[in-house]
Amino acid sequence: MSVKHSLIVPCYNEEGNVENFLKETKLAMKAYTDSYEIIFVNDGSKDGTPKKLREIFSSNKDVKIKVISFSRNFGKEAAMYAGLSQAAGEYITIIDADLQQDPKYAVEMAKILDSDPDCDMVAAYQSERKEGKLISACKSKFYKVITKMSGIGFVSDASDFRTMRRCVADTILALPEYHRFSKGIFSWVGYNTVSLPYEVRDRKSGETKWNFKKLLAYAAEGIIAYTDKPLRFPLYLGIAVLLLSVILGVINLFDSFYQVTTTVLFVGGLILISQGIIGAYLGKVHTQVKDRPIFIAKEILTYEHNQETDN
Ligand code: UDP
Ligand code: MG
Repeated sequence: MSVKHSLIVPCYNEEGNVENFLKETKLAMKAYTDSYEIIFVNDGSKDGTPKKLREIFSSNKDVKIKVISFSRNFGKEAAMYAGLSQAAGEYITIIDADLQQDPKYAVEMAKILDSDPDCDMVAAYQSERKEGKLISACKSKFYKVITKMSGIGFVSDASDFRTMRRCVADTILALPEYHRFSKGIFSWVGYNTVSLPYEVRDRKSGETKWNFKKLLAYAAEGIIAYTDKPLRFPLYLGIAVLLLSVILGVINLFDSFYQVTTTVLFVGGLILISQGIIGAYLGKVHTQVKDRPIFIAKEILTYEHNQETDN
């Protein structure tokens, strides 16, 4: 059965949104195609999301719905990967469940792919950011730094909200890395990408899952995954400290003003930082060599099955 368009919807504690999401998406897709599927990925939600998704699955047989339920919370990156692995569509859209991203843009993105055979992916970006100025400035600085360090063109305003052709999805699925930093993956795989501005809406229900600590961890993940420059940082630091100690040594010949303790603390701190950087990379290698799955699905409901049981 050929499917024109798959929509992947990562859901973590979205009980208040999934029904409205389905309603809005049905309306938006009506104007484009009947041949679409919606893949909800329940990323180990702790609220009533699994129950809501099961209800949606059994009471909406007019729409092709799949529900993948994880055994625990694996994170949005894993949810997107799981969705891609189940998607049958010629076009594939990744869209949030909280209705901040109007499903009508999924149709707009698909129409761009229809009209331009050279375009492989359409990435939606927020025309106006609805977040604090400080967070926004930090994000933009971060993407500039990581682009410079990695040599890969990261786009600051681009989100995961995008529509890609099957070939792009297949390439992404072939990348086996455990620590997935989607913005890096989308840039790294290349392909012709067109940007589409969209107006982000307020969350309909529930709260964002991102806080400053999580954003910092995400940024570190990106740096560690896409550049090994920090591994070389201790080397430069070591050379600088060595030079400094030579200068201090010469000065100490004439004046013993510099305290030993300060020097020891300073050098000790540098050694610890260096070890920390190596540890951070080693940690990632450690998880990767274990070759664990990116997600564990404890239940998969698919519309094919839904139709069989219905007959
Ligand atoms: N999400 C997920 N797993 C997580 C965190 C978030 O699947 O561990 C989903 C969430 O349900 C939503 C999307 O990812 O559909 C974006 O999350 P959120 O709205 O919290 O992010 P924000 O829009 O604030 O950047
Ligand atoms: Mg959101």
